[in-house]
Amino acid sequence: MLRRSLAALAIVLTGCATSLAEPAEEVGMVSEADRPEWRLVIHGGAGVILRENLTPEREAAYTAALETALEAGAAVLRDGGSAVDAVQAAVIPMEDDPLFNAGHGAVFTAAAEHELDASIMSGADRDAGAVAGVKRVKNPILAARAVMDQSEHVMFAGSGADAFAELVGLELVENSYFDTEGRRLSLERVLRERSRNDADRHGTVGAVAIDQDGNLAAATTTGGMTAKAAGRIGDSPLIGAATYAQNSVCAVSATGHGEYFIRVAVAKTICSRVELAGESVGAAAQSALDQVADLGGDGGVVVIDGDGRYEYVFNSKGMYRGMIDPEGMETAIFEQE
Ligand code: ASP
Repeated sequence: MLRRSLAALAIVLTGCATSLAEPAEEVGMVSEADRPEWRLVIHGGAGVILRENLTPEREAAYTAALETALEAGAAVLRDGGSAVDAVQAAVIPMEDDPLFNAGHGAVFTAAAEHELDASIMSGADRDAGAVAGVKRVKNPILAARAVMDQSEHVMFAGSGADAFAELVGLELVENSYFDTEGRRLSLERVLRERSRNDADRHGTVGAVAIDQDGNLAAATTTGGMTAKAAGRIGDSPLIGAATYAQNSVCAVSATGHGEYFIRVAVAKTICSRVELAGESVGAAAQSALDQVADLGGDGGVVVIDGDGRYEYVFNSKGMYRGMIDPEGMETAIFEQE
């Protein structure tokens, strides 16, 4: 169920789930009056998420977690803070929440460890930062942000990334901090059955935002997929694959089967279609996800354009998702809501 105030119904009608590939409005048709003062859109992973498989208690817990993340990011935007700070603020509570496959609650690798990936991008200057395969940074998105702000580089990987995080004073934890019983059981099952189900990789989190100055930003963070080989890197830390932001064009955060999202360069493909072909973010995202599906992959994205128009687009059976702006908040989980 989409949860938001009635006052915001008009906005719900312009920014809606497009797993059904509804035609989106063309970029450029948003009047000044329709532009939100600010807006934040988040996801908590896409996959086979069916109402019959989710208890009411668990559904309520996911909804509450999405609302907490939305409120954390909105607090930044309401105060005139930047889109970059807002996406970071929205992602942190989801990294800390064991419901999601990011930070505490991340999936296990085949070696029964956690290797975390994160990326962040600022649309104003297309500055970006990312970390891949970190094992000790409590909040990988903060490490990605530090790479962007405090290094001359865009990406650090492995032990060097953990060392960089330590150097800039971020909180480090034992790798076991990320453990949860549910993820351990999933690892045992995957190793026993030698196959992953969809839930073994969903739960990646991400956010896109537009701030009061019209700046866009995007962030994505994940534990990857259950029983991944040590050293496997997915799309989440790759600028242009899972994360992209370019002012006046669009911002994207993706979740799904990373190998396919990398090959389609999903996030950059969407933004390029918007910029060069003049497509709406919804149409561009649908096109990129169609390419993912053609190759055999699935997943979804949250996208927002330079006028603050947003879409949730996914080709999976559900995606944890939500939006907040000055008019209100909405969250949804299942394919049809
Ligand atoms: N994209 C992530 C990865 O491949 C997983 C996910 O989003 O479900 O590592």
